[in-house]
Amino acid sequence: METNYRPTKAIIDLAAIDHNIRALKERAGGARLMAVVKADAYGHGVLEVARQALKSGASMLAVATPDEALHLRKNKIEAELLVMGASPVNFIPEAISRNINLTAYSLEWLEEAAKELKEMEAGSPLQIHLKFDTGMRRIGLQPEEAEEAFEFVGQHPFQVEGLYTHFATADEGDHPLFLKQVERINTIKKKWNRGNLVFHVSNSAAAIMHPELAFDAVRAGISIYGIAPSAYVKREMPLELKQAMSLETEIIHVKKVQKGETLSYGATYTCVEDEWIATLPIGYADGLIRGLQGQEVLVDGQRMPIVGRICMDQCMIRLPRKFPVGEKVQLLGSQQGTTILIDEWAEKLGTIPYEIPCILTKRVPRLYI
Ligand code: PLP
Repeated sequence: METNYRPTKAIIDLAAIDHNIRALKERAGGARLMAVVKADAYGHGVLEVARQALKSGASMLAVATPDEALHLRKNKIEAELLVMGASPVNFIPEAISRNINLTAYSLEWLEEAAKELKEMEAGSPLQIHLKFDTGMRRIGLQPEEAEEAFEFVGQHPFQVEGLYTHFATADEGDHPLFLKQVERINTIKKKWNRGNLVFHVSNSAAAIMHPELAFDAVRAGISIYGIAPSAYVKREMPLELKQAMSLETEIIHVKKVQKGETLSYGATYTCVEDEWIATLPIGYADGLIRGLQGQEVLVDGQRMPIVGRICMDQCMIRLPRKFPVGEKVQLLGSQQGTTILIDEWAEKLGTIPYEIPCILTKRVPRLYI
């Protein structure tokens, strides 16, 4: 959005991202850090985050889709780049010319890609990372397909840059599946004898809890934004993460509502006494979804609840006294030493913290400090 006549904004603290990346890199020892910046950098803004991540020591970037990769390249971000999701093979010419690594996730995809490479008479090989499904059951070559896949890539114009897997339960402690996945990927890796590649298995939870699995690189997403992957990791956290995103607005209207009067659509909230009610210019079209009714916000460093139904563009809060129009309101982040973490919203909504920054819509401008 080019103009900003509304006080609602997300503030992204790039110094926090810098801190998190440095802490994760230190934890990973000599391994490289691949910053996962898919989904617009988990809602934080991909270009600014990618540039900061690279400045702070990340040496590779990962996205989910071909379009996300192109967006980075069109904005002159030239770092090593991996598309982790499925890319249609008609993207291969663009991937080669823009030096984008694709994920080879099945024998079928490898065959189709080889056909495409033959038809296009590519001058250079396609750079790929071989992704194995060791237990997540989402995408990936099956462990028993390893020999065939290794043979196939040796006979076709592929340059294998990496080999990886993705954990399903790394954020839950030593889950039996996690241990099984580690064992399976190690067995697969041992079968590879066709030259150097980047071997990477760890998401944030594994990078934090299992530095011994850092291998050549860790793929860190949620943690670079300063959010713990799960309550378990948060409890055991051996390093300090700083939440990069805060969300703020201002009071735009204040009035005293008489005892017994109701608020908002459906008249679901009734004032139990004469109450000071303020209106905030933020609603579910910004990502403050209706399930957040009752969630507290900070005014003057104190917690105050969202009352009545959240509307599309506005919501109401209950104040202990009159505050002026223009008073700053913190929905996420810190105010006068009190903090509302993304985890608190996730708990209120019965979801995982990953979802929270992703649901803040484009209408909320991201400002970088
Ligand atoms: N690797 C893959 C394949 C992913 O899909 C993701 C994110 O979902 C990540 C790494 C990063 O995970 P996290 O955000 O938990 O660090």
